[in-house]
Amino acid sequence: MARSKYITHFCAYCHKETKMEAVGGKTVEVNGSESLRVWFRCQRCKHSALIDRSVPTSKLSIEDLSKDGATEYAATKVFTIGEAIYHSEWDDLGRVISKNRTSGGVQAITVSFQKLGERKLVENLQADALGDTAQI
Ligand SMILES: [Zn+2]
Repeated sequence: MARSKYITHFCAYCHKETKMEAVGGKTVEVNGSESLRVWFRCQRCKHSALIDRSVPTSKLSIEDLSKDGATEYAATKVFTIGEAIYHSEWDDLGRVISKNRTSGGVQAITVSFQKLGERKLVENLQADALGDTAQI
């Protein structure tokens, strides 16, 4: 399957979605998980942006998030990349941008929050120790 060199992406310089051309990429390892980072050049302002192509970029916008469409964060839940999250303690909305497993076997997610920026959170924490295994 042929991969298009062009994507539509929100350009930080143009402050709007523009057509961008792929100008080179590499696979990088971030916290034990591999991801493909590709440089894209905006066809309008010619600025380049490094974009993680492991995730569909259209799913990563955090500007238009609302509490209604977001899953409230809890350490026992399992999240998917691109999922919208509401962190009630921080009163902040964000989106899962990557997942990885720590050396201790704990599953973690990296969330890009509107106010706090990128934060690492634990997921899929076993509730056995709490004596509460009730799942809804
Ligand atoms: Zn631009």
